[in-house]
Amino acid sequence: MSKSTTNNQKNVNFNIAYSHMRMCAFVAITVILLCSLMFSARIESVLFGTNIHYGEQWVEKSNELSVHYLDVGQGDCTIIKTPDGKTIVIDGGKPNQYSVIDQYLKKINNNSKDIDYVILSHAHDDHYGGLVNLVKNYNVDTFIRPHESGGHLGALDLTQVNNVLVSTHGALITGSNYQFYFYSANTSYSNVNDYSPIIELTAFSTTFYFTGDATSVSENEFIVQRTGVVYESILQVGHHGSNTSTTQNFLNKINPSIAIIPVGKNSYGHPTANILSRLEAMGTTIYRTDTDGTVVIAATYNGIAVYSNKDVDQLFIEWWHIVAGAILISAVLIFTVAPKQSRKNK
Ligand SMILES: [Zn+2]
Repeated sequence: MSKSTTNNQKNVNFNIAYSHMRMCAFVAITVILLCSLMFSARIESVLFGTNIHYGEQWVEKSNELSVHYLDVGQGDCTIIKTPDGKTIVIDGGKPNQYSVIDQYLKKINNNSKDIDYVILSHAHDDHYGGLVNLVKNYNVDTFIRPHESGGHLGALDLTQVNNVLVSTHGALITGSNYQFYFYSANTSYSNVNDYSPIIELTAFSTTFYFTGDATSVSENEFIVQRTGVVYESILQVGHHGSNTSTTQNFLNKINPSIAIIPVGKNSYGHPTANILSRLEAMGTTIYRTDTDGTVVIAATYNGIAVYSNKDVDQLFIEWWHIVAGAILISAVLIFTVAPKQSRKNK
């Protein structure tokens, strides 16, 4: 066999091995990119300034707006602290959850008994129950109640509150760098849950949605009323993750990157597999108060920071994806760019 034939055979073997390596690298990169897409919300948050603080306690900072999604079992209670020092409570969980809210308020408000606003979404006791004692024991300046309760508020005595407003359409609370805009145009619904206004809170450049137990009826009204595009938002999932709410059209409208499900032990199957997979398909990062405990999201000019007890393994897996992606991209550069250059140099 001549020397040139041997060299040709070597070149053919090299080309075959080279194309195999390129193919393997291509397949590996494709797999990694697909995996990364599945975790795109978290990678986006890492790249664009969201800070995730798993297992860390929230500590108040100046010039931030913090939203506290309390773990009150099967029910809703959210406390908001604004950059100008106001305290706003949305719903109060069931009656037996008052002590949880009281303890939490004491902790974040230095034992102050002043609350600027209490907002009740609708007249069900997993939302107003804890507010009965809150209104009795705290100095509530303004109480915003649903347009027409359509139900009974039990022992909730609003005569002790300075001002009582009825939830109407518009910006009902505004301050420095934040605004609460209420979408609640209708005055009559067959389902009490639909009296829950869909509240849009814009704080700095972050948009939060609070939906109480509003169903697809209210969500569809919101879609019509809310003009313009919402590129990204943080959603408090409606009706504890029930199939009655969180329609695909609503999600398409508000594009949630983070969703918090206020839920506890229940016999309704909340949150349903349907709603969870609908959110997952959109790349939304899901927090649940039953498994992640109280979740705090703090918004500033620089984006948001999330504090929860979510399992740290989830963060590890996603960093593993990024590291593996970087190694594979380096490998492809070595296998594709380097051989070309060495052939050129010959
Ligand atoms: Zn409810």
